[in-house]
Formats: sequence, structure tokens, C-alpha cells
Amino acid sequence: MHQVSDFRSDTVTLPTPEMREAMATAELGDDVLGTEPTVTKLEKMTADLLGKEAGLFVPSGTMSNQIAMALHCQPGQEIICEYGAHTYNNESGALAYIAHAQVRPLHGEYGIMDPKGVELLVRPSNIHNPRTALISVENTHNAAGGTIIPHENILALADVAKLHGLKYHLDGARIWNAHVATGLPLTEMCAPFDTISVCLSKGLASPVGSVLVGSAADIERGRYLRKQLGGGMRQSGILAACGIVSITKMIDRLSEDHANTRKLAEGLKQIKCVDLDLTTVHTNIVYFSVPGRESEFDEWMQRLNDRKVLAMYLGSRWRMVTHNDVDAEDVDRALAAWQEILG
Ligand SMILES: *Cc1c(COP(=O)(O)O)cnc(C)c1O
Repeated sequence: MHQVSDFRSDTVTLPTPEMREAMATAELGDDVLGTEPTVTKLEKMTADLLGKEAGLFVPSGTMSNQIAMALHCQPGQEIICEYGAHTYNNESGALAYIAHAQVRPLHGEYGIMDPKGVELLVRPSNIHNPRTALISVENTHNAAGGTIIPHENILALADVAKLHGLKYHLDGARIWNAHVATGLPLTEMCAPFDTISVCLSKGLASPVGSVLVGSAADIERGRYLRKQLGGGMRQSGILAACGIVSITKMIDRLSEDHANTRKLAEGLKQIKCVDLDLTTVHTNIVYFSVPGRESEFDEWMQRLNDRKVLAMYLGSRWRMVTHNDVDAEDVDRALAAWQEILG
């Protein structure tokens, strides 16, 4: 069993032995000077995997999303996204700071935006309104519980974007999880979008990195934005080498994380005071609450830690995430700890 069962996030994954080996042997250059063979290889492989012309390796999902926002929006223009979207809530206000855009959020159900609702938010074209520039979707949707956005919904929103001449972006930090859970080909899932941001450092276990993919022209402009944001890296092939292991070896195993999450969620659901909606448990994330007992959360956190289980709460909800560094035994340990604390 692991020394500590860390369910705080899938970002805590450590590089696998194969990644450490790949780092040690990676062919390196200087990406800012234009010759980094391993970075170039990762960018090309990721673009091919997702069915787009080109890719851009960046330090974080935040930078990747925000480069896309700045590509698609002029200052003062507007973005439509779901109310709980990471780009809107969890990127430190970068939309205002970098793209100088404003947001028109829509409340979705399980992270899914109603296409008619989105269409109503598209601004009429006149001098008083901001211009709507972009629809942004998140799949899987983190705050809604790692929920999968149905492909029909993605296509219906694409129709709205096309009809109104809007750009269409996917925050696909965990698109891998949606792909493995649905069996839909990645190229089909990504086809409707102009740009897609994917994370290598979540379920795919790389230490650092995201890739933005899109048309060759968008990615070329994105390279300037990355440099302006201080994201030009030098021997970044060290990191890209891990990314290549991520996209070639770490995708299919996500089904193990999904099975572990299901087991965890079903076990938690058995505890009487736990409020957990199993219909939101699609992939590797589970949220639950224990209504009326929020004042005890810090004490529970300590008691979990004493039992070598790490989890976290955000407001009134606990979040637990499975990944490559927790297994079925860690799930048993976590369930035993929660039963002791709450049972
Ligand atoms: C983690 C995450 C990101 C990017 O996060 P970074 O920590 O900047 O890499 C973007 N979108 C979603 C949905 C995420 O979960």
C-alpha cells in the first residue's frame, strides 16, 4: 500500500519510472531558438492525436486556455462559458488581465450548457453591446464532478457558434477521461472546436505541461503570446519527453481510475449523513457534502491525515480524485477512515 493515500487531486501524480528514463535520455535543444526536437515531437504527436494542424507546448493548462482566449477575443469582447468553468473561476482573473475580455456565464446542468440558452446570450450586433467572440466548453467538467459533456451537446453548441460567427474553444484538461469513459475517438470529440487545451499533468501523470492545439495559423500566433507571457522555455524537451509517455502510455489506464472512483463513491454513499449524487460520477472525481456539519471539516481533515488519507474540501463540498498514484487499497483505506469519522 502507498505510504499516504492522496486523493486531493490528479495533479499530485509523480512521474513514472518510464518518464524518468525518458527525461534522462531525451534529445534536447533550445525551444526559444527554434530547435527543440523533443518538444517539436510532442507538439506534432498531440496535434495528430487530436486531429488538428499544430500544437503548442506550454507550462500549464491556465496558460494554454488563456492563450486561446487571447487568440479568439479582442479587448472588450465577450466569452460565453458555463458558470462553474475553470477558465472563469480558477485562473486568477486572467481573462480580464490577459485577453481583456469579459464573461457572460450560463448556469448549466452537470456542466452542460443548453444551446438555446447560449444562443440567447449571444449579443445583438450594435454599438452599445460588447461583441460576443467565443463559446468555451469544459469536458470533463471539473466543478460539476468530472462530468462528461455529451457529444450531441458539443455539436449543438458548434452550430450556435457557426451560425453567429463565433470561435469555439474546448478546455479539455481531462478530455482523456471523457474519451476513455465514452469510447468516442479523440479526433471526433475535438473536430468541432477551433482550439483545444489538454493537460498532461493531471491523470496522464506528467510533472508539468499542457498542449494547445488548433490551426497552424492560430498556433503560430499562440507562440508569440506564449513568449509574451514568459512561457518560452529552453531545454523543455526534458518535460516534453514525459508528455510523450503520457499520451502514448497513460491514456488507456484511466479506466482504472474511473473504476476506483466508482467504488469510492458507492462506498461513501453508504454512509448515512453523506450527501452524494451518484449521477455526477462519470470519471475520476467525486464531490460530496455533509450538510450542516461544515464547522467540523477542519477537524475531519486532521483525522483523515492521521489515518494517512489526504482529501480536500472546497466551500461546503469535499472533493476526492483518483489517479495513477492511488489504487483500490487506497480506496479501502479512505472508506475505512470516513466510516470511522462519520459512521
Ligand atoms: C487543472 C485544470 C486546468 C489547468 O490548470 P493548471 O493548473 O493551470 O495546469 C484547466 N481547466 C481545468 C478544467 C482544470 O481542471
